Amino acid sequence: MAQRIQGMEDLLGDSMRSWQTMVERSRALFETYGFEMIETPALEQLGTFVHGIGESTDVVRKEMFRAFSGALLEDIFARGSEEGLKPRQRMALRPEGTAGVARAVVEHNLAPQGASPAKLWYAGAMFRGERPQKGRLRQFHQVGVEFFGAADPLADAQVIVMFMDVLKAFGFESTDVKLRINSMGDAACRPAYREQVRSFILEHKEKMCDDCLERAELNPLRAFDCKNPACRIVMEDAPRVDDHLCDECDTHYQQVKAYLDRAGIAYEEDSRLVRGLDYYTRTVFEVDVCGAEDVGAIGGGGRYDGLVELTGGKPTPGVGFALGFERIVLALESLGKSLSGDAATGVYVACADSELTAEAFSLSLELRRAGIRTELDSQGRSLKSQFKQADKLGACLCIIVGADEMKNNAVTVRDMESHEQELVQRDDIVAYLTERLA
Ligand code: AMP
Repeated sequence: MAQRIQGMEDLLGDSMRSWQTMVERSRALFETYGFEMIETPALEQLGTFVHGIGESTDVVRKEMFRAFSGALLEDIFARGSEEGLKPRQRMALRPEGTAGVARAVVEHNLAPQGASPAKLWYAGAMFRGERPQKGRLRQFHQVGVEFFGAADPLADAQVIVMFMDVLKAFGFESTDVKLRINSMGDAACRPAYREQVRSFILEHKEKMCDDCLERAELNPLRAFDCKNPACRIVMEDAPRVDDHLCDECDTHYQQVKAYLDRAGIAYEEDSRLVRGLDYYTRTVFEVDVCGAEDVGAIGGGGRYDGLVELTGGKPTPGVGFALGFERIVLALESLGKSLSGDAATGVYVACADSELTAEAFSLSLELRRAGIRTELDSQGRSLKSQFKQADKLGACLCIIVGADEMKNNAVTVRDMESHEQELVQRDDIVAYLTERLA
């Protein structure tokens, strides 16, 4: 039997309804902030991610699903090497949304220098070759926003407030979630800080895991994220970024916090918060759900002033976030909440006599065209099993088309809960149902 790939789920029933609700509530909120939706391809040239996210990141080094057309793959197998492939022949499924959106911003010149900024949001599937576990999938879904062309701390604050507002729209109370923020510095102050962390790790190398020793060379700040308890203890005493910010970064960070205070957003400063993608500069933030820490952060983001330039565009500042649908569903579940709602209810047109099937068909069309969700038997069921089916589908009313009713130019409306029935004139049925279902 054909099976789906482990760590890649079908969205159906409750999960599909939850995803749709999340996208719709996001749309409603993001539009109030003037953001427009963008859809970039799931498959991009490998370089878009390598340059944007960073060669030394785990996402690029270990987690990307790389892709080649069938003919190219045969070629690679035959030659035993990818050498000689053109950049456009190396592709990858997007592991996150920001790098692809930045590529689109450059390609379409969406945030021309000095002109209006580009405010974009997206919703879609992302792909990472990770070991599947609770809250960690190989195909997962994100909703994200990207604000290009705004260097002001006000943009960071707006994006963070948007993040917290959308969580509220999903049903989280402000006491359910914990926002952590930090500044990672920029090209002026981070290199020296990085070097200090690298030296610190090497000074304590006998207590650190092999991964952290590798990180010391490639991306030392990632050691703050190591899950190994021994490394965590050592890193407690590592140099803190807030002691190493340059004046500009420090001022920017203070202003972001002042705007958050003004907006009444509670946050915790976490000088060890570093995010896994190289493109972040200055502000970074992450949100966890109290009591659901085991699923990991439900979302995060930050400023990425160097990203557009890395993607081949003119220097353009930017700030954004992404939140993970599957983790949000798990976190809401742990709070006894859900996004899925009930499947929409409607009516069921039951046909008491097979000779009246065409009448039932016409009635169903009329109801659907009037915007009423309508089900109709298409398997020649008996009246009794049509009632059962109507129940199963959650219809609140059954409209019975029968010979006696037809003689009186009427139909019977049966309440599926109380089983009470009433005769309604055929010509009045749309108006009757519209009122009753409202
Ligand atoms: P990141 O870009 O890694 O910060 O991811 C942003 C958000 O996407 C995270 O906070 C998670 O909610 C979600 N996410 C990231 N990776 C995965 C994954 N493998 N499975 C499920 N959700 C994920």
